[in-house]
Parts: sequence; C-alpha cells; structure tokens
Amino acid sequence: MNIAVIAHDTKKELMVQFCIAYCGVLSRHNICATGTTGKLVADATGLEVQRYLAGIQGGDQQISARIACNEIDLLLFFRDPLTVKPNEPKEADMLRLCDVHNIPVATNIATAEVLIHGLERGDLDWRNIVNPKRL
Ligand code: PGA
Repeated sequence: MNIAVIAHDTKKELMVQFCIAYCGVLSRHNICATGTTGKLVADATGLEVQRYLAGIQGGDQQISARIACNEIDLLLFFRDPLTVKPNEPKEADMLRLCDVHNIPVATNIATAEVLIHGLERGDLDWRNIVNPKRL
C-alpha cells in the first residue's frame, strides 16, 4: 500500500515517535511524505521514504495530486489544530480529495493508531478489491 505521511511542525516529533513505534508495519509498505517530515522520519527509522517538496513549497499539493489520481491508500496527517497555517485551504482540499476517493485518513495519533492496526490486520485490503487497478 502507498502511505502518505505529513506532520505540522509542532507534531513532527510525535510523527517520528509514531513511525519508530510502527516501523515494522510501515516497512512493508511504500511511504511518501512532505520534505521535512520525510527527512525526519527517514533519519529516525531508516525507512525508505519518497520525499516531496516541503509542505510550504507545495509538497502537500504533490501528495494531493497523487490522492487525486487514487495512488494513495492511507494518509497520516498529524495537524496542529491550534495554529493558523498559510496553506490551510490547500490542506483542507487534500482532506476533501481523501473523501472523494474513500481514502482512510488520520489527522491525529489516536486515529492513526486505529488505522495502523487495521492496516496490519488487513482491514484496508478492501481497497485492492474495490479498485481493480490495484490488484
Ligand atoms: P513539511 O510539510 O513536512 O515539509 O514540514 C508539512 C507541512 O505542511 O507543515
């Protein structure tokens, strides 16, 4: 499965800890990320991470484009809900695209834990069945 990982600055350490904790599961999938998040996760875990531009430079839009093409199976996007971001409308559109394509998305660690356990159990495999191009 293709998993996209993004974290706002105040949530990056949390994302790193999450990826360390679930490194075993994540290593069986393709991970992509916005620039800074991807570097931190790759450095901390040794996971191979396809890195896009930094979020502020358009990295989240690159991931949105992959979501729009139905190329992402799971989005882990740890958001800081307390700080206004300049690219907030684009981030909202990324979440909208997840809904368009029925892509499971976690915007906090509690939901991410549920999804990663579901991923491990194979609960997300239905996406392979629903979308024949993934078979
Ligand atoms: P970054 O992007 O991983 O490059 O910091 C995430 C964000 O948009 O905050």
